Amino acid sequence: SARRELVAGLITDVPDWPVPGVTFKDITPLLASPGGFSAAVSELVENAPREVDVVVGAEARGFVFGAPVALALGAGFVPVRKPGKLPRTTRDQSYRLEYGEATLSVHTDAVVSGARVLVVDDVLATGGTLLATCQLLASMGATVLGTSVVLELASLGGRERLAGEGVRVDALVT
Ligand code: 5GP
Repeated sequence: SARRELVAGLITDVPDWPVPGVTFKDITPLLASPGGFSAAVSELVENAPREVDVVVGAEARGFVFGAPVALALGAGFVPVRKPGKLPRTTRDQSYRLEYGEATLSVHTDAVVSGARVLVVDDVLATGGTLLATCQLLASMGATVLGTSVVLELASLGGRERLAGEGVRVDALVT
């Protein structure tokens, strides 16, 4: 669609960042464009499942897209954060990165059992972040309806990895 082409055209390749050989997809030009940001959020909202209770976004770019999607859907927003940031009792989930390990953290009372959750992020790469987020929420009794991203890097196999765990993903741009 024209809206998705607008979104795609505002995502900027940054060669050799953060390390040589990697091309980083910079979404800040998309955020800075009033029409572009709005188009991305509208597309995420229109493709969201029905009956979402809570949108979950992981620090930090998952906040930027997740919060406006939650508002538009009439859902709540729950932040998943890096460890040590949330002030009350948390449940944490560690996961492997290409090099090393990372941990995600959420308040234990952030979702009630049976809450219908949509997870939103900017970019799907290997799928590790979305998978860990979904597993964290599922372990708390939430029903993960699916995940939505602005951009999928298809060559990294994230979609297949998530499908293997029964998690569906919607991407605006591939
Ligand atoms: P994954 O866990 O799927 O390998 O990596 C996805 C996570 O890392 C997302 O939270 C995303 O924000 C970040 N990420 C990985 N690669 C990129 C990229 O090229 N551009 C942006 N904006 N984020 C990326």
